[in-house]
Amino acid sequence: MPARILIVEDEEALSVLLKYNLEAEGFDVDTAYNAEDAKVQIDEQVPDLLVLDWMLPGLSGIELCRRLRANKKTSDIPILMLTARGEEDERIRGLDTGADDYMVKPFSVPELMARIRAMLRRVNPEIVSNVLVAGEIELHRLTHRLYRAGEPLELGPTEFRLLEYLMQSPGRVRNRVQLLDAVWGRDIYVEERTVDVHVGRLRKVLNRNFEQDPIRTVRGTGYAFDEKF
Ligand code: CA
Repeated sequence: MPARILIVEDEEALSVLLKYNLEAEGFDVDTAYNAEDAKVQIDEQVPDLLVLDWMLPGLSGIELCRRLRANKKTSDIPILMLTARGEEDERIRGLDTGADDYMVKPFSVPELMARIRAMLRRVNPEIVSNVLVAGEIELHRLTHRLYRAGEPLELGPTEFRLLEYLMQSPGRVRNRVQLLDAVWGRDIYVEERTVDVHVGRLRKVLNRNFEQDPIRTVRGTGYAFDEKF
């Protein structure tokens, strides 16, 4: 599953630009325009990383940062603080706001991307590795390419996400609810048997010219991707 990033930024143009660029890198991106809204979203689902503007209407970015650090559930979220030139004072330079890193506006988007990747890599190397490899199967996250024994395979977007999610944790059994949340998202209602339909399609492509099926069905539960198949 791609890393989820929450952007908390009240400048809409910047928020849209960041969302666009982060999605192009393969991340799942949510946005909030103020700290209160961000708090509600974080309570619902803790993101893998937070891009947080310093100056927000209402509760400031620093105050939100402080509150997140004080809460056990959210104290470890990597936080990249954004600040306007002139706003950066000693506190942010010393990062004693609780942020892990900061960038001064206007910043270069590629540099921001590089910092975000570096921060995520520190926490969870797998989450930013662009290529997942298991046996003869190679999945390229960013380019959405899939190979088995060097042969390119064509998967639909849903089957691709399904395989990506399963390959991320080899051997681990994922139930249908977890698969629905990870692949279809929480916002839409999909019947659990839809998962089975898409796993069927995935298997058809993945195993067309091969005897071994890396996807294991766990009766009554869900599916796993077996590294040794
Ligand atoms: Ca602002």
